[in-house]
Amino acid sequence: MKTIGLIGGMSWESSAEYYRLINEEVRNRLGSTHSAKSLMWSMDFAEIETLQHEGNWQALSEKMCQAAVSLERGGADFIVICTNTMHKLAEQVQACLNIPLLHIADATAKEITSKNIKKVGLLGTEFTMKQDFYKGRLADKFGLEVFIPNDEDCQIVHLIIYQELVAGVIRDESRQQYRQIIQKLVDAGAEAIILGCTEIMLLVSPADSAVPVFDTTEIHAQAAVNMALA
Ligand code: GLU
Repeated sequence: MKTIGLIGGMSWESSAEYYRLINEEVRNRLGSTHSAKSLMWSMDFAEIETLQHEGNWQALSEKMCQAAVSLERGGADFIVICTNTMHKLAEQVQACLNIPLLHIADATAKEITSKNIKKVGLLGTEFTMKQDFYKGRLADKFGLEVFIPNDEDCQIVHLIIYQELVAGVIRDESRQQYRQIIQKLVDAGAEAIILGCTEIMLLVSPADSAVPVFDTTEIHAQAAVNMALA
């Protein structure tokens, strides 16, 4: 079994889910007392979100590379960045490493295209929904047509992530808002919805959507186990 190097803490609410999902899956596949070999570098998310909102991606890149290199030196065989947003720096992180990075958007897109789905709605932080590092990759590398909410709804989705989900706050009112925004994406033609922020699965379940949802936390964790056991 390979050792998984997890860059977490963004937020720890979802890193805990990664840890649980990865270990459960290894147990399912290998038997009762098996568990995953892993290392986790866990950030202080307050520092991360401040730098994100200041637009200081240079400082973030340095932090991410420091984490990734430390995990490689510690014995990780590959790296998993436990957040969609921070994949904005995936290329810079990969450039610091001699081991591979398992990209969350690639794992998600492979799952979606295997179901013959071509049009997807994307929910995540405004960085993820509006910038090209994620949407562009889904479109250019996998031929997906990506729908995002209108500006006002993007802001609602973003604020619920940063003010509630990363702080462990789960509110029915926010779930209602997500449900309405998901329905608008479906009305616009989305055949599926990407939960493109690793905490959204704490708020939204398949029951909140008229079309299938693709939970990036679960998909990425499963892909990490596939890679660890390959
Ligand atoms: N975990 C979230 C994501 O998947 C948001 C936190 C972050 O900005 O990293 O994008």
